[in-house]
Amino acid sequence: MEITGQRLLKKEWQAFYPQVDLSQAKKIPAMTELGSDWLCQRCGEVSHEKVPAGFFYCPFCLVLARVDSRSFFYYFPAKKLSKKKAVLVWQGELSEPQCEIADSLIQDHATAQTFLLWAVTGAGKTEILFPLLQRLLEQGKRVAVTSPRVDVCNELFLRFRQAFPKEKISIFHGQVRKTAGDGFVVCTVHQLLRYHQYFDLVIVDEVDAFPYAEDPLLQRAVDHAQKSTGKRVYLSATPAESLKQTVDRLYYLPARYHRRSLPVPEVFFSWRLEKQLQIGRLPKNILAKLASLVEKNNVLLFCPNISLLQKMADCIAQEFTVRLTTVFSQDQERLVKVENMRAGKYQLLLTTTILERGVTFENVSVVVLQASHRIFKKASLVQMAGRADRKGAYNQAKVIFVTSEQTAAIQAAINEIKQNNQQALVRGLIDEM
Ligand SMILES: [Zn+2]
Repeated sequence: MEITGQRLLKKEWQAFYPQVDLSQAKKIPAMTELGSDWLCQRCGEVSHEKVPAGFFYCPFCLVLARVDSRSFFYYFPAKKLSKKKAVLVWQGELSEPQCEIADSLIQDHATAQTFLLWAVTGAGKTEILFPLLQRLLEQGKRVAVTSPRVDVCNELFLRFRQAFPKEKISIFHGQVRKTAGDGFVVCTVHQLLRYHQYFDLVIVDEVDAFPYAEDPLLQRAVDHAQKSTGKRVYLSATPAESLKQTVDRLYYLPARYHRRSLPVPEVFFSWRLEKQLQIGRLPKNILAKLASLVEKNNVLLFCPNISLLQKMADCIAQEFTVRLTTVFSQDQERLVKVENMRAGKYQLLLTTTILERGVTFENVSVVVLQASHRIFKKASLVQMAGRADRKGAYNQAKVIFVTSEQTAAIQAAINEIKQNNQQALVRGLIDEM
């Protein structure tokens, strides 16, 4: 297999692809002098940071292997890919509004460069992309699908592999590197820093998610990895106003595929909540609520921080019998636990915001603990609520925001969900509210 496109340091080649002979590779300095500073050729930041030995390094893209002023990038230039058949085996069928957007994405491809697909949680954004992807792969175009979130990448990779089983799809992020060529890559945004003017299409999923929205370096990573003539599709259920204004084409889908309205969160006030949480307790009425939810449906319980996870798990386990576990970003078993939740092995999964978006479980209700916490912005609350009732026959899933106070973010999230439902009803995309 030829590895083209990726610009890697020698130590990265040795770690990832030890069998590759670099004698024929192109070689460029990893940093270039810029007055008294040095410009990093990977992330484009200017550095004046020195190591004690006196040479410079780039502190901005340290999340990948360290670049310094003595090192080089090695790469193999891209070759033209030939036209081919791209087999799409997805058995589902797009709904009428999904189909309209999928067609528009293909038709507008010739006349526009940036696209935003604004579709509510559970609307089936990924499936809408299938026809466009199939078309571009058949034309021999290179495609990257990227997200700021590891869990989103994992899920996308799974779904693309099922839909396009004959395609060679790679996945790259901090925990996983599976290389199957560079024509169809699923990766976190950081990984795109390794490509330069390479992809014909870059799809950015969950574009409003941290850290992409706050980090110009990541936005630059996408710019650099995409060819100047390339196209970009942004996907989000909660896009920022600024993005809606700047794209060439905006498609809005306010309803879910299954024609059920989005569950509107119920606010569950508990005046002494913070005090109880501090001592590792949950108020009795919340425990009772959880127990009744679990009887009917699985539950995702979102906590504002990792330190609460285990305390809450212990507290709940003392009160009633339930199959539960916790998951957070540094959890070694994170992937396995998410898979097990999907397979129905737990009734209750306590998690942080790492699972707020991009993941689909069947038959889950959602509880957000301490919804007034400053970490839970409006988009985050809408996304967490959006995990409920996505899939499965059970249509009575609940979303509950447990809080000691009403906040602007809580109110805005509830309003936005109601507005989407209203729009969906007006357009005849849901049957009732
Ligand atoms: Zn850098």
